[in-house]
Amino acid sequence: MTSKLIEQWIRPEIQALSAYHVPDPGNMIKLDAMENPYTWPQSMVDEWQGLLKQTALNRYPDPGSRSLQQQIRSAFDIPTEMAVMLGNGSDEIIQIIAMAVATPERVILAPEPGFVMYNMIARFVGMQYVGVPLNADDFSLDMAAMKAAIAKHRPALIFLAYPNNPTGNLFERAQIEEIIELAPGLVVIDEAYAAFADDSFMSSLGRYPNLLVMRTVSKMGLAGLRLGYLAGPADCLQEFDKIRLPYNINVLTQVSAEFALHHKDVLDEQTTLLRHERARLYQHMTAMNGLTVFPSQANFILFRVADGRATALFEALKSGGVLIKNLANAGGLLQGCLRVTVGKPEENDRFVEVVGEFLGS
Ligand SMILES: *Cc1c(COP(=O)(O)O)cnc(C)c1O
Repeated sequence: MTSKLIEQWIRPEIQALSAYHVPDPGNMIKLDAMENPYTWPQSMVDEWQGLLKQTALNRYPDPGSRSLQQQIRSAFDIPTEMAVMLGNGSDEIIQIIAMAVATPERVILAPEPGFVMYNMIARFVGMQYVGVPLNADDFSLDMAAMKAAIAKHRPALIFLAYPNNPTGNLFERAQIEEIIELAPGLVVIDEAYAAFADDSFMSSLGRYPNLLVMRTVSKMGLAGLRLGYLAGPADCLQEFDKIRLPYNINVLTQVSAEFALHHKDVLDEQTTLLRHERARLYQHMTAMNGLTVFPSQANFILFRVADGRATALFEALKSGGVLIKNLANAGGLLQGCLRVTVGKPEENDRFVEVVGEFLGS
């Protein structure tokens, strides 16, 4: 009886989806989800918990998160003339923007392989999704294909992750600018990994009426808080803000994020450590026979395993107590590919050890 109800009323495109799968890491070293592995110094934890003790849970949070917004503006150099909107993770921001433009004929366009939520959220809100393959050799933008797809589909929304997930590279800046100028609709530069990258579009805001920059604090050490931010022209963000649910940033997140950003030097130090570890890990991996390792401007490294052994290596790592991400069966250009998040030195050492044993066997 339930299944008949579902068949009749749940939209077919939702029935056809499979839910976003998150594996249970158990006791494994967790190098699968681009988390920052570091916690805070005890004195900072104590100070934070002191703040939480004074936080009233019986009242609704500030619907505009004004105090946190100010902190974000100054911590991340958001141009003063730009508006800011906060989301319950940047995933929610993607959803809000999509809802604002959604009609059944309209298209969300993004390069592939890319962040899976662009495609999933397009389906959630009843839009079309068009993925445009990147160049196979280095995962750069295939500009001829991008231009053709933009001309053909006239996308309402283009997402460009900068750096891209899961490939880790920065697309060419001039090519992105060309796309922004060509695009009939909005272009969102998704800078989830800004803390680990040497470039950003934040200072380009205002130069183009259709450019938006989206970021998250997840990858810089605050994944548990669920907080993303969008910066862009005020006229655009005013419209999005009508769709944002009034209390989307809960009071614990507001208090905690403001506190954490007040101590941003601690997070920045962790980021610096991880950048060093990324270089060290990359060097170890490129020295191994049987791996093709792709350069990264993010806190993860994508690599291809020769001879169809990617899933075998993924399983060997699991048996060795290390969980990474298996993309080998994702299809498209990711054939034979795995993705490892940069962890603490000893975690990366364990990863390198198991991979070395596997490739040597
Ligand atoms: C992780 C990630 C996000 C989502 O971040 P949340 O703020 O945790 O929702 C968005 N875009 C890209 C490219 C990501 O890798």
